[in-house]
Amino acid sequence: MRRGILFVLSGASGVGKGTVLSYVLSQDDNLYFSVSWTTRNQRKGEINSKDYYFKTREEFINELETTGFLEHAEFVGNYYGTPRSAVEEQLAAGNDVILDVERIGAFQVKELMPEAVLVQLVPPNLSKLRQRLLKRGTDALDVIGKRLERAKEDMAYYKKFDYVIVNDDLATAVDDLESVLRAERLRTTRIDNTDFAIHSSQDTQLEIELDALEQRIRESGH
Ligand code: 5GP
Repeated sequence: MRRGILFVLSGASGVGKGTVLSYVLSQDDNLYFSVSWTTRNQRKGEINSKDYYFKTREEFINELETTGFLEHAEFVGNYYGTPRSAVEEQLAAGNDVILDVERIGAFQVKELMPEAVLVQLVPPNLSKLRQRLLKRGTDALDVIGKRLERAKEDMAYYKKFDYVIVNDDLATAVDDLESVLRAERLRTTRIDNTDFAIHSSQDTQLEIELDALEQRIRESGH
């Protein structure tokens, strides 16, 4: 059985990662979303243990120093981290996993697991991103400023990602991400030799029928 593939979706806050991801996840039974730990405050509408595990700084640091995270980073004053065991269990069971992490965490994952697939979701331009952050109204103005600065910085690293998807039209962005998942699942490097053996094996029952068919063709002289 093949190991699961680790996908990492990264992109500025406000770019629409959550929305794109929820569409893709709803259509894909073999994709597991890794819920991160964060020390930031829970926003209205967010569900603890579905969107994030909301933790205190003490709890986060304690986890970091004991179990450790697969990757972690500080982002605009808060800690974010990917719990290690759930991801490893899913990959070992052959399920694909997708993380929603910022750039520094994404690169930590790539160092650790070079076969991970890094995707950066970008806005059509920074003004559209600013518009989304202001309209969303979930962050204070100074936080929005810092998030925009960070977005500009992150986008400069786009060549270090395997794929870039522009989120202008939502349906297109969803389609693009699904295409990346599909293509990566078809890569020869991901195929398990034992799984592939079926394609060069023969179907005994069908072979018997084909022998009979071949015989009839021969007898009919065609
Ligand atoms: P937000 O506060 O808007 O939910 O997320 C801020 C940023 O943190 C986003 O870019 C998001 O992708 C990133 N993020 C969420 N979870 C993790 C995580 O576990 N690790 C890292 N490194 N970044 C994360």
